[in-house]
Amino acid sequence: RPMTAPEADAEERRLEAALRPKHLDEFVGQMRVREQLDLMLASARLRDRAADHVLLSGPPGLGKTTLAMIVAAEMNAPLRLSSGPAIQHAGDLAAILSSLTEGEVLFLDEIHRMSRPAEEMLYMAMEDFRVDIVVGKGAGATSIPLELPPFTLVGATTRAGLLPSPLRDRFGFTGHLEFYAEEELERVLRRSALLLDMRVDTDGYRQIASRSRGTPRIANRLLRRVRDWALVKGLESVDAEAASAALTMYEVDARGLDRLDRAVLTALCTTFGGGPVGLSTLATAVGEEMETVETVAEPFLIREGMVARTPRGRVALAGAWEHLGLTAPAAPGS
Ligand code: ADP
Repeated sequence: RPMTAPEADAEERRLEAALRPKHLDEFVGQMRVREQLDLMLASARLRDRAADHVLLSGPPGLGKTTLAMIVAAEMNAPLRLSSGPAIQHAGDLAAILSSLTEGEVLFLDEIHRMSRPAEEMLYMAMEDFRVDIVVGKGAGATSIPLELPPFTLVGATTRAGLLPSPLRDRFGFTGHLEFYAEEELERVLRRSALLLDMRVDTDGYRQIASRSRGTPRIANRLLRRVRDWALVKGLESVDAEAASAALTMYEVDARGLDRLDRAVLTALCTTFGGGPVGLSTLATAVGEEMETVETVAEPFLIREGMVARTPRGRVALAGAWEHLGLTAPAAPGS
């Protein structure tokens, strides 16, 4: 019986959870953030206090949620998961905050998407471990102060610049996650293959890593697609050829660009002649939200030397034309 879509989603989430490193020393790469976090947590443990609030920024899939879980595990503290979009009213946040236990780690994903009143409540909670709960409406409204136990907030955002500075300033530690090097992704893949009981040769790992867009989540996802391929084709072990055939079928190209990445490049180069073009125009052309183009597609394209953000808009760089197999128009005056 084939799985239904929700079942397949649940299966993906279950696998993703199974592949998550549980401790800091299993977390691959991000040396600087890992060392700084390690020191901060060790100090909090020695002082027997809740760790300082932590802000993690970086494109999706680089390990922000995983690090939040690791913070809780390393502090031997319970973990609560929520997200900015889930907190639309200050009351939603008050309900969560008032039920936290001492030392608990609260993870707020997409913290930049919280509503303004909730954000203001969070300032006070982070700084003074206190909230004012407003009861009633209009002239009869009163506010009841409520003490909170010390807790650790771990906030995640795709770009730290999306946060208002009063919120950013209340985090004692800010870590920016970078895209992973291919060698690091190979290590992520080796660990996952072991857990999935898959056999892959050295060139096979290299091939999958090089198409993973610098992102562990994508590496793990591609590994599972390659596993499907190997299973159906009856392969004992995955080599470079099998990996590239499988991934080409899933529309992941040799540089790791996916359909959205290519749509952005194509629009930029062909529809807009290489730019400059504004973000909103570009997003409309590819049928995506501005935030998705800006935080999901662009960071990787910028790192790969294909796109640049300029004050006048997005422009295609030499790498973009080359990748699409097009010739860049001659620069005016040259
Ligand atoms: P984010 O919250 O930044 O979107 P996640 O923490 O959910 O990303 O990570 C996505 C997946 O990638 C997880 O399943 C996790 O197993 C894997 N992963 C992320 N970072 C690492 C890492 N440094 N080492 C090993 N696996 C990682």
